[in-house]
Amino acid sequence: MLNVDLHCHSNISDGILSPSAVAVRAKANGVDVWALTDHDEIRGIPEARAAALELGLQFVTGVEISITWGAQTIHIVGLHIDETNQELVQGLAETRGGRERRARDMAAQLAAAGIPDAFEGALKHVGNPDLISRTHFARHLVDIGICADTHEVFRRYLVEGKPGYVPHRWASLAQAVKWILGAGGIAVVAHPGRYHLNDVALGAFFDEFKQLGGTAIEVNTGSHSPDQYTEYAKIAIAYGFLGSRGSDFHSPGESRVDLGALPPLPPGVVPVWHDWSLENA
Ligand code: AMP
Ligand code: MN
Ligand code: MN
Ligand code: MN
Repeated sequence: MLNVDLHCHSNISDGILSPSAVAVRAKANGVDVWALTDHDEIRGIPEARAAALELGLQFVTGVEISITWGAQTIHIVGLHIDETNQELVQGLAETRGGRERRARDMAAQLAAAGIPDAFEGALKHVGNPDLISRTHFARHLVDIGICADTHEVFRRYLVEGKPGYVPHRWASLAQAVKWILGAGGIAVVAHPGRYHLNDVALGAFFDEFKQLGGTAIEVNTGSHSPDQYTEYAKIAIAYGFLGSRGSDFHSPGESRVDLGALPPLPPGVVPVWHDWSLENA
């Protein structure tokens, strides 16, 4: 069986490893088909593709786009995109645009909560100055001993209702899906079990996503618990969505699931890669 991992991050967004180092790790872990899906960024793709080619990994272009739907932040993965598509390139540049302002506002709030100079601290962890994320603040707060790990930082500081949280308006669902489809790609709802949506709201979201041309959801992801693999397999089947599999790997110390380490998709789920031309499929 092919080991397919279609969701992970490099230091072009909030991962720790360079795109080629992620490729090396994927290969070492037995991955056959691999996509790098940095947040709102595609500039890691050339390095990732070259490394994959050298290692004999089947490479799939990818991106994870941040969107705002109602009051929620949701992530939409785009697979098999043409990363040179100008509307996609431009849309992602706009999506990244507010990140520095937001980071400065987060730092001001953290300073008011007794943690000064967090912007400068977070910047030390940033691999791409256009993509400063909450994860970089989390790593800084661990470094200076405020929290034991990044999960604790999120819980205590970086989520809604906490002192370092700054609301942000990202792209719309319609924009993200349009950019992905316009670039010849497949739109996939990332880790649907992570959002704070009740069944009715999640159903409305899936209906809208489907109407816009979205065709897949992540079923097995490092951001789901094993119970959720089963739960979202049923949902994928009920809605007629294809199912995706991706570790959401960010770094060796932080991620619960390593590259390539998820179980296979549950029976009955049609893999998002079912009609791709892959070797040894
Ligand atoms: P941002 O795009 O700046 O809002 O950052 C979002 C990123 O923060 C996600 O992609 C995750 O990598 C990370 N993240 C979100 N929630 C948590 C959490 N509870 N624990 C650890 N990392 C988290
Ligand atoms: Mn992330
Ligand atoms: Mn995500
Ligand atoms: Mn991710």
